Parts: sequence; structure tokens; C-alpha cells
Amino acid sequence: MYPESLKRLISELERLPGVGTKTAERLAFHILKAANDDALRLAVAIRDVKKNLRPCSSCALPTEQDPCAICADPSRDRATICVVEQPKDVYALEKGGVFRGLYHVLMGTIALLEGIEAKDLTIDALEARVRAGGVREVILATNPNFEGDSTSLHLSRLLAPLGVKVTRIARGLAAGSTLEYASKTMIEDALEGRREVGV
Ligand SMILES: [Zn+2]
Repeated sequence: MYPESLKRLISELERLPGVGTKTAERLAFHILKAANDDALRLAVAIRDVKKNLRPCSSCALPTEQDPCAICADPSRDRATICVVEQPKDVYALEKGGVFRGLYHVLMGTIALLEGIEAKDLTIDALEARVRAGGVREVILATNPNFEGDSTSLHLSRLLAPLGVKVTRIARGLAAGSTLEYASKTMIEDALEGRREVGV
């Protein structure tokens, strides 16, 4: 019943997380009604985020300048690397403001059932960073769920033999909850309560 272009916009919006058909229709009609410039600003912002952002060659965080602002910051502790699943986890930890080391973004977790193996993540690059030397501790901050734990186990087995201290953040985050939704205090507790991983 909708014209083709409108139908396409609704179906694209519907693919966004948390957006059902009703919301997609509401957003599409809002865009349809909006002034040309307003609607196009949204389109351009989407295009730019894809065009201008590249993974940092060191930590894989999407950035406009390589290395990213965190890796380039001389005041950060380069001997400590905090490993997270997704870019959004870096932003969550940065909001906490307690961690002063560097990050490494895996861009996912090992999920064999979904066909995601170690080689599909940035694990080789992490291993190379540790092998390059100067790293004293790797903090595994993957989420406290099955995939996060399996990935963390894989990494501890890979990295500990390289002579680096490997720790896992504390489960101050209630089981099943993620960094993304953690408060500053929860992040502080999770980092301070981290424990060395036995291999
Ligand atoms: Zn970086």
C-alpha cells in the first residue's frame, strides 16, 4: 500500500536494533514530513560515519585519525591493555574514567555456533601487540556470558605463555549484564576486583 521508496525506508529502519514495524513506520513518516535539509542531514551523517571511520591500526577502535585519540594520548599507560568485545564497551569504560591504559577491540566474541572463530576477530593483532613487547598486563573485559567467558579463556591460553600478566575483570557486573549498561561504580569495582587468570 505504501509507495516503493517509503516501503524501502520503513524496511531499512525496521532492521535497526529495537525498532519494530510500528516504530519504523512512525520514523519513516517523520522523515517524510521533515524539511529536505533535516532529512538529508540524517542521510549524510549515516554516510559519513561509514566513510570517515576506519579501525585504529593498533586497537581497532573506529577512528577518523589513525592511531585513534586514545592510542595517541601520551598520558595513557601503554603497559596495560584492556580487551573488550565492541567499540561501545570502550566508550562505556571511558565514561567510568578510571581506566588509564590502552584498549583492544575484538569486534565480537568467539561464537562457534554462529560460525565466528578466533580468526574472525582481531585476536592476531592483539597477539602481535603483546609480542611486540612493553605490555605488562592484559585485562580481559569481555562480557560475563557464555561467549564472553569462552573468548576470555581462549585469550588467556594464548597470551599467558607470552610472559604477560592476564587478568579478568571481576563479576561485579551481575551475571548476564554487560559493560554497556554498567554504572561508573560497577566499572570501578569490576576493574579493581580483577583477578589473574590461571592457565
Ligand atoms: Zn587505537
